[in-house]
Amino acid sequence: MSESNRGDIYKELGATPIINAIGSVTMLGGSTPTPEVRAAMERAGDSYIPLMELEEKAGAAVADMAGVPAAYVTSGAGSALTLAAAAVMAGDDDDLIQQLPDTTGMKGEILIQKRQRYWYDRCLEASGAKLVDFGTDSRTTKEDLRNAIGDNTAAVHFYMVEQDPDPDALSLEDTIEIAHDHDLPVLVDAAGQIYPLGNFGKYVKMGADFQCIAAKYMGASQSTGLALGSEDMIRKISKQSFVGYEGRRIRGIGRPHKVDRQEMVGVVVAVRQWMTMNHEDRLSSIEQRSNRMIEILSGIEGVSATLIDNMIGHQPFGVQVRVNESVTGLTLQDVVDKLKQGDPPVWTRARDGDDYIALHIFGLSEGEEEIVGNRIAALFD
Ligand SMILES: *Cc1c(COP(=O)(O)O)cnc(C)c1O
Repeated sequence: MSESNRGDIYKELGATPIINAIGSVTMLGGSTPTPEVRAAMERAGDSYIPLMELEEKAGAAVADMAGVPAAYVTSGAGSALTLAAAAVMAGDDDDLIQQLPDTTGMKGEILIQKRQRYWYDRCLEASGAKLVDFGTDSRTTKEDLRNAIGDNTAAVHFYMVEQDPDPDALSLEDTIEIAHDHDLPVLVDAAGQIYPLGNFGKYVKMGADFQCIAAKYMGASQSTGLALGSEDMIRKISKQSFVGYEGRRIRGIGRPHKVDRQEMVGVVVAVRQWMTMNHEDRLSSIEQRSNRMIEILSGIEGVSATLIDNMIGHQPFGVQVRVNESVTGLTLQDVVDKLKQGDPPVWTRARDGDDYIALHIFGLSEGEEEIVGNRIAALFD
């Protein structure tokens, strides 16, 4: 596709395509499906296929590549969390499956460290589960978890962030040991833990019963995700799924969490590519493109641009841009707003509490790093 045509299909609708310098953001489109993934999705559209069978085969292919017992393609990692929460409450019981989100008569509580409450924990609650905190804002101990386990506990949840480990949280190792001592399953949100490759499936291999991965982070459609886990756990998740609503005539809560056949095939291809690609080349290209933005922004008075050197997870490197307001007359928010007002709009963000804008290559097409760098530089002319 030529540069000039890019985004035309949106313009025809009167919507304005943008340059995404933020990274993998659901609100902006989330992911860039690779050409191989798009081609596979196109091919998958040419026949019908029983989706219960395709879920099994796609899941088996992913499980094999990840080295875990079983896997399931879901409507995003968020859906994997909802289905897993439902699965730990209702298990294999079709009456209970059809009763959710009403949890009467079931163990309906999922424990979560107070320190680990996070944006996506709401996806667990969508099943009907109630989240119960343990530990304090400052620290979580083994005793906190032991004391929190009660008659209504259905599972223990863990939020994994290898990029930024929390020394005051209870570790996953301890969480698994204590939960399993009490015959409770452990759920891990590892949505972005896909690099180093050893992290892909690592938590299930450590003994967790479930981990989710967001396929948006590895070149699949952002509407897809993965549940990885024990065979027992994945079977229970599959019973909650939209395919069972039709195929088993059991009305589980997963019915609105559809995944199309093209998407299931696309995820398998995306995982295969991710597992076999040359990650040194990937990282070196992203580092170079980040450095190109730094080069463009260097030498501007009151502006500092530095390389983010973290390579763990889905979004390596990137650039931190700091702006001295008393020198430039612009706040960070002014910069974000002005970039958005330009043509084409460039979307950036400074996260709450951060004193910098983080630019990422993830959502930038080849060469757009140049445009972003120049557009920022032009604000300080
Ligand atoms: C993105 C993300 C999710 C949600 O994943 P979707 O595939 O967008 O539903 C959940 N947890 C974490 C940590 C994430 O980064």
